[in-house]
Amino acid sequence: MTHQHYPALEVNLKIIRQNTEALVSLLNSHEMTLTGVVKGFNALPKVVEQFAKGGCRHLASSRLDQLARLKRREMGLPLMLLRIPMNSEIDDLVQVADISLNSEWATVEALAQASSQHGVRHGVVLMQDLGDLREGFFDQGELIALAVHIENNLKSLTLKGIGTNLGCYGAIKPSEENLGKLCQTAQEIEKRIGRPLEIVSGGATTSLPILLAGKMPKGINNLRIGEAILVNRDLPDYWNVPVPGMQKEAFVLKAQVVEIKGKPSHPVGEIFKDAFGDCPTYVDRGVRHRAILAVGKQDLCDPSKLVPMTPGIEIVGASSDHLIVDIEACSAPVAVGDILSFGMFYSPLLFLSGSSGVNKIYKNR
Ligand SMILES: *Cc1c(COP(=O)(O)O)cnc(C)c1O
Repeated sequence: MTHQHYPALEVNLKIIRQNTEALVSLLNSHEMTLTGVVKGFNALPKVVEQFAKGGCRHLASSRLDQLARLKRREMGLPLMLLRIPMNSEIDDLVQVADISLNSEWATVEALAQASSQHGVRHGVVLMQDLGDLREGFFDQGELIALAVHIENNLKSLTLKGIGTNLGCYGAIKPSEENLGKLCQTAQEIEKRIGRPLEIVSGGATTSLPILLAGKMPKGINNLRIGEAILVNRDLPDYWNVPVPGMQKEAFVLKAQVVEIKGKPSHPVGEIFKDAFGDCPTYVDRGVRHRAILAVGKQDLCDPSKLVPMTPGIEIVGASSDHLIVDIEACSAPVAVGDILSFGMFYSPLLFLSGSSGVNKIYKNR
């Protein structure tokens, strides 16, 4: 092929590796392990390789099909399913993944049965809901009872530990108080079963601020992290807590300009519904110089979560297949055929990495 294929997602493997190593050494210095979460980039194997080389203890995804692909590639690390299992996937689950997060008694029983049928041992992490109201036992007593039941009665399962999820549905901040409760649950289980739990998992990227503030409760020994390694924008941009040694722009969107024209910034005619059935509002800034790029919402979800890397370029909007940018303030000339680069938050990465129409380019510098 003589022409590069666009749109492209350019992945800097070196940044992924360095971010992973920086995070592993931060967590290790607090006697914690890192579970590398690969769902944000569709588990692209070259990127997962950097997670493994960088020192992750487990590889995790919410999607079993992604773990199945990693299983075939033998990454040499235990595979963890993050989304509590569907009944319909349990048979595959015990053959693909080593560990899963769980919150239902019946599902755990089904896991035990499937594991024994397939002659495997499956690891279980029980989830406690500390107020975010996504998955997990809200009742501490029920969680402890199931933990003891697994330990004593379900021989095809290993009780690996417990975990929690915060800052997702309920947008609840991880704190000394809520994570302290998880530690207290862990202590209670350890007392009942007479051994320490291997995993006491205190959440995701959003649990890093209290670690950096030196306030992570002792007893939390694992975090499951994707965003901070891949994108590294939530903490510096939303929380104002940069993680030392971590870089941005591991993933860059490259898209090609297909039209440049001066156009009014307010649509002409009666405004009704846009391509997605919404009724948007427009600010009239007069006639502006604009470019259209050949990439759209189908590839990147939300154009407002892109970060233009050319100074002066502003995101205007997108349809399924077109991205419109304002280039009025752009000092460098932009022409049809030019390739423009964009950094990104999490949601464009989620879509771009999974889109079959987006070329993946890897670099190592
Ligand atoms: C996605 C996910 C994570 C990782 O979240 P990040 O914000 O990418 O760090 C951790 N745990 C669970 C259960 C998840 O679903």
